[in-house]
Order: sequence, then structure tokens, then C-alpha cells
Amino acid sequence: MDIQARIENLRKLIDINSYKYYVEDNPDLEDWEYDKLFRELKSLEEQYPQYITPESPTQRVGGISEKFNQVAHSSRLYSLDNSNNSEELRQWYNRVLKDVGVQQGVQLSLLESGYKDIELACELKIDGLAVSLIYKNGKFIQGLTRGDGVIGEDITNNLKTIKAIPLKLFEDVNVEVRGEIYMPVSSFNKLNKIQAENNQKTFANPRNAAAGSIRQLDPNITASRDLSIFVYGAIFEKNAQILTHSDAMDRCKKLGFKVNNYRKCSNIDEVIKFCSDMSEYRKTLDYATDGVVIKVNSLAMQNELGFTARAPKWATAFKFPPEEVWSRLEDVEFSVGRTGVVTPVAIIKPVNLSGSVVSRASMYNFDEIQRLDISLYDDVLIKKAAEIIPKVVRARKTSDSKPLELPDFCPCCGTKLIEIEGEVARYCPNIKGCKAQIMGRIEYFVSKAAMDIDGFGESIIEQLVNKKYVYKASDIYKLTYNDLLTLDLIKDKSANNLLAAIENSKNVIFSKFINALGIRLVGKESSDILAQHYENIDTLKEAKYEDLAEIMGIGEKMAKSIVDYFNDKDNVLMIDEMLSFGVNITNKYSGIKDLRLKGQSFVLTGTLETMSRELAQEKLKELGAKTPSSVSKNTTFVVVGSNPGTKALKARDLGIKILNEKDLIDIIGGKNYEI
Ligand code: NAD
Repeated sequence: MDIQARIENLRKLIDINSYKYYVEDNPDLEDWEYDKLFRELKSLEEQYPQYITPESPTQRVGGISEKFNQVAHSSRLYSLDNSNNSEELRQWYNRVLKDVGVQQGVQLSLLESGYKDIELACELKIDGLAVSLIYKNGKFIQGLTRGDGVIGEDITNNLKTIKAIPLKLFEDVNVEVRGEIYMPVSSFNKLNKIQAENNQKTFANPRNAAAGSIRQLDPNITASRDLSIFVYGAIFEKNAQILTHSDAMDRCKKLGFKVNNYRKCSNIDEVIKFCSDMSEYRKTLDYATDGVVIKVNSLAMQNELGFTARAPKWATAFKFPPEEVWSRLEDVEFSVGRTGVVTPVAIIKPVNLSGSVVSRASMYNFDEIQRLDISLYDDVLIKKAAEIIPKVVRARKTSDSKPLELPDFCPCCGTKLIEIEGEVARYCPNIKGCKAQIMGRIEYFVSKAAMDIDGFGESIIEQLVNKKYVYKASDIYKLTYNDLLTLDLIKDKSANNLLAAIENSKNVIFSKFINALGIRLVGKESSDILAQHYENIDTLKEAKYEDLAEIMGIGEKMAKSIVDYFNDKDNVLMIDEMLSFGVNITNKYSGIKDLRLKGQSFVLTGTLETMSRELAQEKLKELGAKTPSSVSKNTTFVVVGSNPGTKALKARDLGIKILNEKDLIDIIGGKNYEI
């Protein structure tokens, strides 16, 4: 692959995974896997700067969801560059020493003029999500997520539910503080247990649990989760006499904020020792940390050093190495998912890893087993970053090692497995007869992101399938009170609750209904895209391969899978059956009339990338909107392009919702946007 293609490929991968991490709070990759992609991209861009573009993930920070009001930050929130070992820490420190002084107009840098060291402040890097809290006259008035660094999401009401965030400071000052919201590990474990018991989504790690809890539309949900904060930065008014980062933190403590301890170090050797001590100490804490942040303590020096496009030059994050441990592979379980994919799971001798006992680890797929040359009774290296599902990353032969037989037949129904060209997985093709697939489809059908039918745990589904009450999804709508009473542990009340949940699910939006069908390769996002392009289930049923493949976000493989699905008359019959049982599908994207923006007013500021401002205004007017040139309290939205003017700030002061170009395109393209 040529360099440019690799760079583009990496950007795509990073963008997709950033979206899952920052917007959906639901990452697929472990952090160290993501970091590896990011470092490769950064290093390629350093070698081939001609390929750097402003949209590259190396030039940007985070992501924003459209769920919340979007508000411009008073000054940018940055990410941090990483140092992965003591060598990289020294390199960063030498760059700092070289740069301080030179940029002040002094001819010699600190290093050249004989200064050997500067003071550094070191703190634990909390693994949560960044927020900015604004206080006027000592009162908490607004709280924003980091968002993309320039614009954040307004989550004030949710933040107010966190007890560690003072609503009133001990002094009536104006200050903006920045800090990390986190969920204690013990609370995370409890929450996941409750979520699992209630058949609800569990979180991959405390960071995602914290992000998912704080970015809820209903503050009551946030309030029910145990969240806290550590403040690690502050912007005081000019006359506040704060000269160093440590001064700022001391002052924050006095104002009533929760601040983690910092350590002042007078040279890089002390920093390296501190990082090494913290790698052990962190294991005793009830909150997740992923490193140590090292900051130049003097604010004047920080000012001189400045920022790159995404991170301060005056700070670096020493990332703790991901934890790994050797264990023995005792068995391999092959589980069959709803689409027939067979996934190997390592059963290992229980070991302690990052504070929890691990006895199962993921092995991805058959190719990975061959690539790593894994045999039964090998010693296997298990790795996990933060609290995410552990994976086997290496294998070492032992005197007991025995070749691992990969199944040629489905472990559930015995059908010969197949491989699909261009995919690494092996599939059981017995879609209609394999019990694991039938159960998997029903589990998926009732899940939150699909028909959202509460109370259908794995054991209930298994009994329903065993008793042949349920074979396909539509059978759920035929279940009677008496059917349910025949199941273990189901009594009068739980049977009635289940029936009520089934009845409630009958009113469903089109995108969730499509998702519930469990069409191979079609997930939540693609279902949403399909609902935007097809009015109802009848038009989707008739969709042509060529049209589907053309849709951005669908593509050829998914198009084929969708057409195959509707070509199967059993699937069409099943859908018809559901409709006849009263399933009522509404499409939130339909019925949008030409004048759907009537009564709304859009002010545009900054440069748009995909169209001129005039063209955007024309399109908005066609849809009935007004596009005045200045912001007033009657403005509905302010659309911010690059290099925006003061209109963005005015919008923020007036509490007007801020949109970016993508939102604007979505709105013009027909997406319903919540005001
Ligand atoms: P980051 O987490 O590496 O560092 C910046 C953040 O550190 C700041 O925004 C702040 O929130 C936080 N922080 C915590 N304690 C701090 C302190 N004492 N002082 C200053 N800041 C402190 O950067 P990021 O841009 O938030 O995220 C990048 C990281 O996110 C990656 O390194 C990766 O591990 C992870 N990520 C993972 C995936 C995935 O798919 N698993 C996707 C995207 C990002």
C-alpha cells in the first residue's frame, strides 16, 4: 500500500473509532490499540508533512454529539501529547528546555544559556472525561464537555447533580476551571452488575460509564450514578496573582474544588521516579488512571511555549504501560453469534489482572489463532488497558502444548462452517435451524437499541426457544399469559410485566425496527441511515442493490446483505406477521415538508468548507428559515465554520444553540434536529 493510501486508511480507522469513543461512549478498540494507530499516523505525517490536512485526527480533539446544546468555549480545550517511556520523557523535556527563552526574543535558549532545569508539576492522569466549569461571582453558571475543543456540549444540569462540584465557591470570584469527571471503580462494578441484571447495556470501563452517565438527556439518570471530579486546571482573572500551575491548584482547593495531589519536581529524573512510583501506587486507588501528566509549572513559560494544533507544548502525558500477565490456556470455547459468526474465547487459568480476576479472554477470530500460533495448554499473555475485556496477545509453547483443533462444524448445530470471501470470520450457514443463532436473533430483537422489550433475559429466551413458543422474532407477539406461566420462575406479576413490555414495544420508530431485524452487517447507525433514505418498510423491501450501494455509509457488502435478506420470503412473511399483530412503525425522518424550518432563524459565522455561506443561506431560506446577519435573542441557531467571528461568543452569552457545518448539512439534508 502506498504511503498516502496508508495515511488515509489510518485516518478513516481513527475517525470511526474516535466517534465510537467520544460520541457513542462505546469503543470497539482498546486504548493501546487506538494509540498505536494514532502514533503510526503521527509518525507518517512527520515524515511526509505534505500529506497533513486540517481534518487529520492529529490536528483535532475529541467529538461532539448533537444531543446537547453546543456552546463555544471561552478558550480552547486541548488534548495531551504522550510519552510512553523515560526516553520519550527526556526528549520532551529537552525540547521544552530548548524552546523556553528562544521564543521570548532572547537569543539563547535556557539550555544554551546554562540553565539545566525548570520546575515541573506532576499529577495523576485521571481516566474520565474533561469538562469546563464556569463560575461567576462564585456561583456555578455553566458546565460544558470538551467536545471538539472549540465547542462543547452544555451539560450544566447534569453536572449540578455531582456532589463534588460546588454550586457556590467559598469566595465570590469569577473563574473557569477544567477537570476530569470520573466514576469510582467500585461504583462502576456495581453499576455494571445492575445493568446486566436488568438486561441493559454494560459499560466497557469506568471512563465510558462516566461519559455515558454525564451525557444523559435526563439529569435524574446522571444523579443516580456515582460520579465525581478532580479539577486540574483553572483560568483566573488577570489580577488574581497566580504565577504557577501549583498556585492555581492551591487556590482551587481553597475555593472548595476537589483537587488531586500534585508533586513539584525540579528535574526530569525526579519526574521519571515519580512516574515509576505512580505505576504501582495507582493500583491501590478506587479510580482509573492512565498515566501521569507533567506540566511546566511557570505560567509565563507555559505562555511562551504555546500549543500545537491539538496539545500544549508545555505538558506531556506519561502513559502507564498496559498491564499484561501470563496464564495457561486450558480450553477454548467457540460461541456462535446471531449472524452465525463463530468466535473463539480462551478459557484460562484464573489470574489477577489490574485488580480483577480474569478467567476468559478474547481471541478475536480463527485467523488470529493461526497468526499467533496458539495451541492448547500454551502459556498465553493476557493484556488489558484500563478495565476493558482482556485479550490474548501472545502464546508460548509448553511441554503440555497440544495442537488446537479449530472446528469445521458448528459447535451448536453441527453444520459445516463456511468462510465468506473478504471476511476473517467463519460462519455457521444454518441460519434457520441453529439454536444459537435463533436465540441470538431474539436477544438482539428485544435489546434496547432494537424493539426495547424489557425483561427478556437469556434464560427466558432459551426456555421460549426450547419449548418452541418462539422461533422467529414475530412469535414474541403471539405469546400468551398461559405460555409465559409455563416458564421457570415466571409468576403472575412477571408474566403480566412481560406482556405489557411486548405491547409497549409495538410502537416503534423505523430505524429501530430495521435494526431489530438483525440483517447481517446492518447495525444501529446503518439502520438510521436507511430510515433517512427509505420512507417505510415497503420501500425498503423493494430497494435495489445499485441504489443501496450508492448510499453513503451503506456500501456494496451491506447492500448485498440487505437485498438477500428481503429476497428471503420467510423474512418478508415474518415482517408482515408483525404488522398484522399491530406493530406500528413511524419514521421520524418522514413527513418533512419543504418549509420545515419556518419560524427558525440561522446566523452563519466563519468559513464553511463544503459550500459558500451564500449558498447555505439560500438553501436555508428555501426551507423557510430566516438568515439574519447578526445574533439576537430571537436567533434559533448559530452555525460556526472555521475562524468564526464574535458571533459565536455572543451566541454563547445568550445561550443560543451552536451548530457546526456537519449539523447544518444534516439539517439541510432532511435530518430532524431537536431544538
Ligand atoms: P488523553 O486522554 O490522552 O489526554 C488528554 C486529556 O487528559 C485531557 O483532555 C483531560 O481530560 C485528561 N486529563 C486527566 N487528568 C489530567 C490532568 N491532571 N491534567 C490535564 N489533563 C488531564 O487525550 P484524549 O484526546 O482525551 O484522548 C486520547 C486518548 O483516548 C487516546 O490516548 C486513547 O487512549 C483514547 N481513545 C481511545 C479510543 C478507542 O477506540 N479505544 C478512541 C479514541 C480515543
